[in-house]
Amino acid sequence: MRRYQVLIVGAGFAGSEAAYLLAQKGVRVGLLTQSLDSVMMPFLPPKPPFPPGSLLEKAYDPEDERVWAFHARAKYLLEAEDNLHLFQATATGLLLEGERVVRVNTWEGPPALAERVVLAVGSFLGARLFLGGVEEEAGRLSEASYPDLWESLKALGFRFVEREGEVPETPTTPGYRVRYQAFHPEEWEEATFRLTRLKGLYAVGLCVREGDYALMSQEGKRLAEHLLHELG
Ligand code: FAD
Repeated sequence: MRRYQVLIVGAGFAGSEAAYLLAQKGVRVGLLTQSLDSVMMPFLPPKPPFPPGSLLEKAYDPEDERVWAFHARAKYLLEAEDNLHLFQATATGLLLEGERVVRVNTWEGPPALAERVVLAVGSFLGARLFLGGVEEEAGRLSEASYPDLWESLKALGFRFVEREGEVPETPTTPGYRVRYQAFHPEEWEEATFRLTRLKGLYAVGLCVREGDYALMSQEGKRLAEHLLHELG
């Protein structure tokens, strides 16, 4: 079974940015995500300005704004980091020892052990996607959202608020809406990123606060700096 200093669930904008900076500073990081085909995948092309020195800035190419090309560059940069293990799995729940989170259970693979677990699951908790008259369980177009993690968090007592985001129609993709669950503001401590109900559990990104890609990336960096401070 793999053991990490920090295990991040969700390789979106916030989770990838945090993993990238932590790994560069020598922390053993696991970055577990539902699909390697959607690592740092935008809804629409990111537009500068970006946080200086960020993974978001490095993966951006003004000559090629295709979302798939942006995703591929970001994934390549993450995979090139020695201390970072990017792998595909779907988190289904947390395993506790007393009030401390010690493990993330997954559908596909072995459970992953970690000293600290970060949830960076974006718009994928309890997500419903609406496209014309069609409604499906998805956090982004063509990306399913599975109920297990959200159900297990609810069973642990976590409270949520409902949020909604909209993607406008483009020449190549239809417009759609995503309704999802974010942690209730009282569950999360902004300064430390902790989900205070349990020990060793943190959250970052859209699952705890609203904002654009630049803010999600900035938050990922801020989380990494906080964890580096905690790890000494
Ligand atoms: P995400 O980038 O969504 O990453 C979350 C990752 O977690 C995903 O890769 C997902 O596969 C993974 N994941 C989820 N659950 C699990 C699980 N159980 N196990 C393993 N992996 C899991 N901002 C902009 O600047 N421009 C936009 O055009 C824009 N459009 C938006 C449209 C919508 C519908 C929404 C809801 C938000 C939009 N935002 C936009 C806001 C925000 O910037 C993005 O949502 C951004 O992607 C959030 O970053 P994140 O890292 O929190 O989550």
